[in-house]
Amino acid sequence: MSALKDLIEQMIASDGPITVESFMELALAHPEHGYYMGRNPFGAQGDFTTAPEISQMFGELLGLWAAEVWSSMGRPHPVRLIELGPGRGTLMSDALRAARIAPEFRAAIDVTLIETSPTLANVQYEALLTSGAPIAWSATLSEAPEGPAIILANEFLDALPVRQFLRVAGQWRERMVRLDDSGRLAFGLSAEAEPHLDVDADEGAILEVNAVGHRLMFELGARLVKQGGAALFVDYGHSATGFGDTLQALRAHRFVDPLADPGEADLTAHVDFAAMARSARATGAAVYGPIDQGDFLRALGIDLRARTLAERAPPERSEEFEQARRRLVGKGAGEMGALFKAIAVANRSLPPPPGFQLPPAKPA
Ligand code: SAH
Repeated sequence: MSALKDLIEQMIASDGPITVESFMELALAHPEHGYYMGRNPFGAQGDFTTAPEISQMFGELLGLWAAEVWSSMGRPHPVRLIELGPGRGTLMSDALRAARIAPEFRAAIDVTLIETSPTLANVQYEALLTSGAPIAWSATLSEAPEGPAIILANEFLDALPVRQFLRVAGQWRERMVRLDDSGRLAFGLSAEAEPHLDVDADEGAILEVNAVGHRLMFELGARLVKQGGAALFVDYGHSATGFGDTLQALRAHRFVDPLADPGEADLTAHVDFAAMARSARATGAAVYGPIDQGDFLRALGIDLRARTLAERAPPERSEEFEQARRRLVGKGAGEMGALFKAIAVANRSLPPPPGFQLPPAKPA
């Protein structure tokens, strides 16, 4: 049994059930035992693989995206290049390398990495040691330096804790984590109904609310409106607000029970892009998308980039770029092209960011 599970069970035994949001927050970010705190969860040896870990092309194309957005912003110097939840630092490392083809942009960049995990901040430090760009770390966006900004976030929103509400007898009750009769973690419901939730749904429906994500969108949108710039979020989720329990736990590339081993498995929830877009738009910022990751990357030129890399690679490696390209843009089972989506938030003075004016989709 995990140390964190013991701790959560003791907490509930003494103070009563906790919300799903608190459970998820503890499981991921408990300072000592949280999932992200003491480990490097990425890659084949880890629990999951993300787009920047699949191929350098992902970070490179996002670096070029940033360079073009910077031009459309009137080439501010300095420009804050901010990444939310940078993982191993791979995306930023690839983006900064690709940005060398725009030397004036490269020279204007001042990087801030927003990371809660000291372990991952160390991995990021190592990855970016030779990047040549000034880099600083902050725990939250509000602590990042002011000024015109370009903000990148891949698989960040899905790692934020969600609240869940269940429709019972015509009322919404918050889903809680409690102890069952044998003292094990189990789902339960709040004693009181939510008086403020005014959404019709069928009996048994689950509504997820990413309150932390909404607060982030308010803050980020307000910042971009006031200080200029644009943000790009890539994540998995749904385009329209719907009902359903999307809380999932992944351990060694397999789905496991979310309550089984808090702190040992990665806990995520699908991103409700429509909900995130509403909060960003409410600040006066423009929102573009969501569009499929596959369409976005193809509009940025991934097909050509894959061919170029394959031509330059030694013969035994040339296949690898086409395989990675397919995994990132393909829309079939096991491919990320339609499962993942991109959304951009920008100051209204900017034109639509690259990739968000789409030509008709071609087959992958
Ligand atoms: N973007 C990376 C990693 C995604 S995993 C990639 O694509 O590979 C989520 C990342 O967000 C991890 O680095 C995790 O430590 C960080 N993180 C999770 N919650 C956070 C929070 N509230 N504030 C800052 N970073 C957070």
